[in-house]
Amino acid sequence: MFKYKDAQIKTILGDITKIEVDAIVNAANNTLLGGGGVDGAIHRGGGKRILEQCKKIGGCPTGEARITTAGDLPSKYVIHTVGPIYKDGISGEERLLYNAYYSSLNLAKEYNIKTIAFPSISTGAYGYPIEKAMKIAIKSVIDFIDKEKIDLDITFVLFNNDDFLLYNNYLNEKL
Ligand code: ADP
Repeated sequence: MFKYKDAQIKTILGDITKIEVDAIVNAANNTLLGGGGVDGAIHRGGGKRILEQCKKIGGCPTGEARITTAGDLPSKYVIHTVGPIYKDGISGEERLLYNAYYSSLNLAKEYNIKTIAFPSISTGAYGYPIEKAMKIAIKSVIDFIDKEKIDLDITFVLFNNDDFLLYNNYLNEKL
């Protein structure tokens, strides 16, 4: 566990659908109607109530976030955000990925969420190189904590050991 100002930053190796926090973040797509990877796992585990709410919301632009309840999952909410598809790294991907984390945190604040868990957004099907994406994720979180001076418990849930070690090494070095 890493302490940064008023906040805690943690890393876990595992499945985000099993985590008991106020909100888990979904790496969704623009339709919000479900997909593969973590999105598929969240909709499978959460049941049809999540999808019903997503249908009502009617989609989400890249870099923004929307919130639903978590259905059958152990968390209270799911924050659905849409990361960029990685093209060449010079097509605005960095800003969009940063915004996906930041807008999720803004929603968390608005809903008085104290514990939030993120997957590694855009680094699966969307092809974002993990090391670059990890640095953007951490920068976004750190900037938010700096700006809001908020007591927030943030967990990065990594799905494989390489990603987990990468996050831990970088956080050890940085915090
Ligand atoms: P994207 O389309 O944004 O790239 P993916 O779901 O394809 O999203 O992948 C994002 C990351 O989430 C990848 O590192 C993938 O291994 C990971 N992932 C997949 N399933 C889960 C899960 N159940 N819990 C946590 N992370 C997951």
